[in-house]
Amino acid sequence: MASTAAIRLGCCAVSPESAVAVPPASADPVQFDQVVMTTYGRFPLTLTRGEGCRVWDNEGRSYLDFVAGIATCTLGHAHPALVATVSQQIQTLHHVSNLYYIPQQGALAQWLVNHSCADRVFFCNSGAEANEAAIKLARKYAHTVRQIAHPVIITAQASFHGRTLATITATGQPKYQQHFDPLVPGFAYVPYNDFAALADLVESLDQPQPQVAAILLEPLQGEGGVRPGDRLYFEQVRQLCNQKGILLIFDEVQVGMGRTGRLWGYETLGVEPDIFTSAKGLAGGIPIGAMLSKEFCAVFQPGDHASTFGGNPLATAAALTVCETIEQENLLQNVSDRGEQLRAGLRALANRYPQLIADVRGWGLINGLELTAESSLTAAEVVKAAISEGLLLVPAGAKVVRFVPPLIVSAADIEGAIAAVERSFARLCG
Ligand SMILES: *Cc1c(COP(=O)(O)O)cnc(C)c1O
Repeated sequence: MASTAAIRLGCCAVSPESAVAVPPASADPVQFDQVVMTTYGRFPLTLTRGEGCRVWDNEGRSYLDFVAGIATCTLGHAHPALVATVSQQIQTLHHVSNLYYIPQQGALAQWLVNHSCADRVFFCNSGAEANEAAIKLARKYAHTVRQIAHPVIITAQASFHGRTLATITATGQPKYQQHFDPLVPGFAYVPYNDFAALADLVESLDQPQPQVAAILLEPLQGEGGVRPGDRLYFEQVRQLCNQKGILLIFDEVQVGMGRTGRLWGYETLGVEPDIFTSAKGLAGGIPIGAMLSKEFCAVFQPGDHASTFGGNPLATAAALTVCETIEQENLLQNVSDRGEQLRAGLRALANRYPQLIADVRGWGLINGLELTAESSLTAAEVVKAAISEGLLLVPAGAKVVRFVPPLIVSAADIEGAIAAVERSFARLCG
């Protein structure tokens, strides 16, 4: 928001009235840090404009954007189709209450149902809210269908599910929970990709009577270090859920919407969830979240759950355009091809720096470069060096650098990014 205001004030004639009404837009980090709550450690960079996979800072320097708002700007920046839809929708009807029928919301839900294993969709505004909705739905199903008095949801260590109280509790990383207790009851944790540990926990929680309502997992752990799910593990989890009547919930907030080269991360695993969530890439950067479920567990009734902004005409029109553009521009194929190109380039680099780079892994256009435990180099240091070389990257934990460019990224952009990473390592070593 601040950067849009900065452009407007910087480039356009501003009438005296609006100059009074609008506070001075600031690109001054000192002033920014005095008035904005200190929840982020920020890189010293002010971005003011974007086009395709490129963004520009307030001094006119350009960067290849391999962060994309953290796996969010599916179509990159200023994509003509998204610009047209949002401009048209805001001039027509941008927000009405869910007390009324919203055709864009219905059309988006239809598209999502046609293109996934889900039968119904609830719309909200973020990943955390989508997961909250999934947690509430799973609890209601446990209470009303399975007569479980104290339902437990099992999640994975090193997972990430959001920053609300229930979703930091679901998140299996103590650093996100510290100082925010008391946490929400009814969660238990297991190591990711370890079926024996999961089966043991379910066995013990379900004595003397069933307690486990759901298992909530990311198909690939994003924030937790770009760790892909294991196919066999997920098949076994699905079987266990079928045997016990446990709901299987997938958090597709980061890996959904084509990022893995398939529309949904679960397609890569060959396993269908009962409930899944989407957000980040769904409307390409316009805020939206969605919780999708199969009919048998869609137990919400009027009054059970709601969101003022959820599914409004602006956000759902934008998301529908993102969905249709993924199809029209054949972006899933691009994601697979560009992902392979990126991993090949990063692996060649890893061979040159075996003392620094431990692993290169990922699916489609969600990839991680893991630094060795022995070296003192951190992901944040690599990200800083890359900024100096004109490339934006984002850490996924202390030792993993994450590459999540827009799905429209070109072969030339990937080449440019690999060259910038090479220069960054040369800089860090020299
Ligand atoms: C980003 C993320 C969330 C949280 O989404 P917000 O929109 O920030 O609330 C939840 N789960 C996963 C897997 C994520 O990557």
